Amino acid sequence: MSFLLLGTHMSIAGGVSRALDRAASVHSNAVQVFTKNNRQWAGPPINEEDVERWRVQMPALGITYAVSHASYLINLASPKDDLWEKSRLAHQDELRRAHAYAIPHVVLHPGSHTGSGNEAGIARIATALNRIHDETPACADTVTCLEIMAGQGNVLGRDLAQLRAIIDQVEDQRRVGVCLDTCHAHAAGYDICSDAGYGAFMAEIDRWLGLETVKVWHFNDSKGVMGSNLDRHVHIGEGEIGEAGFRHILNDSRWEGVAMLLETPKEETLEEDVMNLARLCALVEDDSRIPPGLRPQSVVEQIPGAGQTPDDDAQ
Ligand SMILES: [Zn+2]
Ligand SMILES: [Zn+2]
Repeated sequence: MSFLLLGTHMSIAGGVSRALDRAASVHSNAVQVFTKNNRQWAGPPINEEDVERWRVQMPALGITYAVSHASYLINLASPKDDLWEKSRLAHQDELRRAHAYAIPHVVLHPGSHTGSGNEAGIARIATALNRIHDETPACADTVTCLEIMAGQGNVLGRDLAQLRAIIDQVEDQRRVGVCLDTCHAHAAGYDICSDAGYGAFMAEIDRWLGLETVKVWHFNDSKGVMGSNLDRHVHIGEGEIGEAGFRHILNDSRWEGVAMLLETPKEETLEEDVMNLARLCALVEDDSRIPPGLRPQSVVEQIPGAGQTPDDDAQ
């Protein structure tokens, strides 16, 4: 099996490509970014210089996977025409930006029906996606990944059946996938902690979506208990999911090639990212799957030549 793809959501302060440097500084091989300020509708024009820096730096820094997260403002489920229209244009822009950076996946919160009902909201999302796909033929290889949600209020995407219902109404289904967030799934009532629960969850994913529809994982422990509908992320092992849930996913070969990205609280020093990545790596049973930079020193020393400089050989 190949290396796990592990990383965290990184700030794009100073330019989108700066997130790559931050990801490399914590020795991860994957990263999640916003491709513009996520709390504003409009972003600056795509910075071609930064796109070029991204293209060169990504392989140079050993980052093998990147995903973007769409703006939190977007609500494709809105019954209000003005907000729906604004959201549709904003998500088009998200796809174009991701495409410019050759980012294959864009995570999107499906949206809130704000009282119009599940069915109306789901139809609204699908109609928007179909329009967006028609209007961005050049971004055909950029996949929108609908994120499972914790299930608060009128938010759609609270379970796998709802995600399926949206996808069913999308004409070009190659352009949609799913992002599974461990905190959201747990809060929505899925048990990933017990062996039986995880097995049942996998069977549900297979039944409703097919495993290949899942393009990316968000790895967050959950402040709220199972079924609490509380969307509050906490450090790995410090929440209601605990180590067992992450151990299941990390060691399941069916997730090979699917990146796992943290969205846990942190300061600018990124110390918490280092801590959470180390906690995840400690749960990996096959050391050879841990990205080389994240291997504990003791493991690195066991690899012939690793950690040695040419000077060491000369002495
Ligand atoms: Zn998430
Ligand atoms: Zn969340």
